[in-house]
Order: sequence, then C-alpha cells, then structure tokens
Amino acid sequence: MNTYDVKQPTVEVSSSTKVMLGCFGIVLELNDEGGGTISSDLKESCPYCDCIECNADCDGSAGDIDGLEDQDDLDSRNRYNAAIDGLESLILAHAFAGIDITTPAYLEGIETAESAIGNNS
Ligand SMILES: [Zn+2]
Repeated sequence: MNTYDVKQPTVEVSSSTKVMLGCFGIVLELNDEGGGTISSDLKESCPYCDCIECNADCDGSAGDIDGLEDQDDLDSRNRYNAAIDGLESLILAHAFAGIDITTPAYLEGIETAESAIGNNS
C-alpha cells in the first residue's frame, strides 16, 4: 500500500529484483529494503528422502536398508551444506554491496569455490 503525507511525501514501493545466475541454479531475490534471499541446487540432499535438511531422521535412513548414506557420508554432507550456506551468504552479500555477480569471472569464482568445498568436506 502506498502512503502519502502532504508535508512529507513518501512512496512505498514494494518490488524486488530477481537475479538468475545460470550456474548451480542460483537465484537471488533482492528487495528494495536491502533484504533478500538466495537459493540454489548446490546443496546435497538425503539419498533416501531427497530432503536437504534431513539429518538421517527420515524413515528410509532409519532403516538404512540400502546403505546409501553411512555416518561418514552424513557428516560429510552436513559439512558440505554448511560451507555452501556460507558461500551463498557471501554471494548475497556481494550482490548487496554492488558487486556485479553476473560476470563470467565471478561465476568462475563460484565454481572454483564450490569445487574446493567439495574436495574438503
Ligand atoms: Zn532423509
């Protein structure tokens, strides 16, 4: 809703900018108030229920019938996803700071960082 005051005119515009990077399914939604969100398909999901947040607490992993994810795999997935959280936060912060995150050089940086995270988690 737009609010107008005769003495101090203000216009409240509610709009957001959507940025799709075209790598890792990264999508940013930046609003005019300096807030925003980032999503991607970078994070690894539970091999049983396909849920990113699952911490071996779904029905499939409880039985561990197929042995798709043992404790080491789970620890590794949690470390990887936590690092990806940090990477996504950094990308979002860079966008807010005015860095052009759509340049080929920046996208290459994201890929390099993801690769390093994958090798170290
Ligand atoms: Zn699960």
